[in-house]
Amino acid sequence: MSTDSLTILLVEDNPADVAFLKTLLRASDAKPWQITEVKRLSLALNHLQAASFDAILLDLSLPDSQGLDTVAQVQAIAPDLPIVVLTGLQDHTIARQAVAQGAQDYLVKGQVSSELLIKTVTYAIERSQILRRLRESEQCFHGVFAQTFQFMGLLSQTGLVLRMNQVARDLMGRQDEAIDFQFIWEAPCWQLLEPVQSWLKMAVLRAGQGETMRSELQSFTSQGASRWLDFSIKPLRDEQGDIMFLIAEGHDISQLKQAEAETLKALEKERELNQMKNSFISMVSHEFRNPISSISYGIDFLEDFDPPADQRAKCYERMRKSVDETLQLLDEILLLGRTESGRIEVNYTLLDLKDFCSEILEASQLTQGQAHQIIFVAENNSIPAKLDTNLLKHILDNLLSNAIKYSPKGGVIRFTLTSQENQAKLCIQDQGLGIPEKDQARLFEPFHRAANVHQIQGTGLGLAIVKRCVDLQNGQIQVESQEGIGTAFTVVFPLNPVQPE
Ligand code: ADP
Repeated sequence: MSTDSLTILLVEDNPADVAFLKTLLRASDAKPWQITEVKRLSLALNHLQAASFDAILLDLSLPDSQGLDTVAQVQAIAPDLPIVVLTGLQDHTIARQAVAQGAQDYLVKGQVSSELLIKTVTYAIERSQILRRLRESEQCFHGVFAQTFQFMGLLSQTGLVLRMNQVARDLMGRQDEAIDFQFIWEAPCWQLLEPVQSWLKMAVLRAGQGETMRSELQSFTSQGASRWLDFSIKPLRDEQGDIMFLIAEGHDISQLKQAEAETLKALEKERELNQMKNSFISMVSHEFRNPISSISYGIDFLEDFDPPADQRAKCYERMRKSVDETLQLLDEILLLGRTESGRIEVNYTLLDLKDFCSEILEASQLTQGQAHQIIFVAENNSIPAKLDTNLLKHILDNLLSNAIKYSPKGGVIRFTLTSQENQAKLCIQDQGLGIPEKDQARLFEPFHRAANVHQIQGTGLGLAIVKRCVDLQNGQIQVESQEGIGTAFTVVFPLNPVQPE
């Protein structure tokens, strides 16, 4: 509304009515009125295109237009212009229809006073301005609602979905406006997640009683991808404080969740590593204590008792054995440490596996004596393979020396070598004491020794080293054993391993 005067377009073909209305308006002591009068709709439309008016007084029976169509044509050119319809005494119905169609009000010719005319026009202008502001605010709200990166939905108090924005639609895999479910918990994105549906039902109930409910909810997109939402349902109240709707809101926290899970996993791994390190240190200290105590006891014995030559020789012998044990333990711990920390590089070389195994076997028989009968069987004349000779030597040395160590003298040990489908298979089988079933699962853990080894010397590190050396070359190791019958270790290697870049 302009501040100085009100501009009115008066569209009326009856000169008497025009004169009367103009008189009424002029009689007003409110604002001055600027009245533009025309007799035809076509002229009125020309004026509306050329200038703007605060309101239009519109007769519905003009020479070139009759009835509701007159209103429609004005609205088409000036959608925001407040229209006050002028009707005859008999035309109440059509006047009401015009108001339903968007006209602000109507006046019945012959029943208009100056006061009524001014009040009607002024209110029509004010109402129209309020409506325009409401429309703008609605557009603004809709823009925010539609464009936000959050999942947003407007729900009834019972959880019926009334509106959803694009993000929500994307999650549900719906591009169109249609919502083919009624309640929020029926949405396909959490169809298979019963706990989520229960939470939503409970949240709707409590939000309907005024609470704000919030939770992290899992959902699935129509492509089956998992998404996590920080989801809330809260009441929307009117000015009196009564709950009108519920607002459902959620933002995607999938990446955050994934990062959280990875951090937890890393922490758990670190905790496990720390635990392993601590128990490893205490096991190592314990293992060193025995041979070192034995050496210390020997020194005391020699110093304090000055024993005769034969006892002294025995004592020196025991001390030497303890020194050897300590050195072996140290070597094995260092080797295991290197394999565990990734400080060992795998150097693949092309070798004939059959020749390599024969050489290891010969060397082992030289150092360990001939007390056992070792039968070596290789199916093929030569088995070319790409393996790390150093790691392979650790594997064979340990498995052969265990087979010898845990078998009675004269026992038969079978060492078979086969190859098929790009794999080489080595099997070392003895007829020794065997391994109790309850110990088999923990055989490859450092320092684990089976309950039946009794006085047989060992550190419990050999098989842990074997396992790491097999893993490093992408192989697999298996054990089959029966107490009192014997043990067979089988190692399988790929002949052409995929090498790290
Ligand atoms: P150790 O130095 O004790 O031999 P290993 O790590 O080589 O350590 O072996 C771990 C345990 O596995 C041994 O203490 C033993 O109980 C069992 N074991 C390994 N090989 C054999 C085998 N061939 N026969 C019976 N028991 C075996």
